[in-house]
Amino acid sequence: MPGRKRISKADGSRLSKRSSGLDVVLGIDLGATKVVSALVAPDGTIVRHSGRHLHANDGPGGVIRTLVGCVEACLQGDPLPKAVGVAVAAQVDPRTGTVIHAPNLGWRDVPLARRVSEELGGVAVVVLNDARAATLAEWRFGAGKGAADLFCMFLGTGVGGSAVVGGRLLEGGSHALGEVGHLTIVVGGRKCHCPNWGCLEAYVGGWAIAERAREAARADPEAGATLVARAGVANQITAQTVFQVARAGDPLAGRLVRETERFLADGAVSVVNAFNPSLLVLGGGIVAGMPEFVPIVEAAVRARCQPPAAMAQVVVARFGENAPLVGAGEASRKR
Ligand SMILES: [Zn+2]
Repeated sequence: MPGRKRISKADGSRLSKRSSGLDVVLGIDLGATKVVSALVAPDGTIVRHSGRHLHANDGPGGVIRTLVGCVEACLQGDPLPKAVGVAVAAQVDPRTGTVIHAPNLGWRDVPLARRVSEELGGVAVVVLNDARAATLAEWRFGAGKGAADLFCMFLGTGVGGSAVVGGRLLEGGSHALGEVGHLTIVVGGRKCHCPNWGCLEAYVGGWAIAERAREAARADPEAGATLVARAGVANQITAQTVFQVARAGDPLAGRLVRETERFLADGAVSVVNAFNPSLLVLGGGIVAGMPEFVPIVEAAVRARCQPPAAMAQVVVARFGENAPLVGAGEASRKR
């Protein structure tokens, strides 16, 4: 593995053929189990990328060493670009680049921008929340390009969101604006992973769809037989298992999908009423696995939102799992 000293600031003259002529920046997506780095061109195209698994138990020092190793692998000996952006699933103060709280990494008050900058020879580093980074990618280059008011909802294992209002990406008083996965949609409903009950995420997040399906299969083993057979055992059922089995015509999986679309529609109607976006962008693995949710959400917005808000268009995100990388790179250009 190359030593850290090999990373030098870009002088623009030593970039390889694949990246020459492009004002590339480096985007990094720091998750709980892996980190991915990418060279990102000014049009949002990923020129080259590299990923590594990481162990949150290693603590900030170990995780940052893994991150630096990932950057070195991505650079392949090319100089480091002049700007670096890091997206992280965390509450982040983007002005200081401090991770205030990252539950999945077990971090509190980690000065990530400063520490990564030190490891990378003093290059400018910006750090931002991953949902905001993904929204920036969709706004600049993707499904939200050209819009001044949009809301992005990301439906993966959890449900996150972020708002652009009047051409500004909103932060909130403690950098947590847009957490619409935790809108209460069922009074006294299912326990969420947050302190609340009945949250949108507790019904339509990937973990929640899986949990609802496992419960249903256990409650009625005959009806759940196809789901369990596809997954191997009941506790291996995932949201994607539910979608696949529903497509094959299984009645129980079909019922779970229909329930999910009702919960999602309820949540989306509240989001559109609250933020009045001209575009509601839906992304994440749940939408990729069941794109049929998009027209159902749009129909609910048209029929049930306040009339001025009901005009919002509902569209699918352009970027998949690369959205935070592209957005992190873009954020680094703004410094
Ligand atoms: Zn919640």
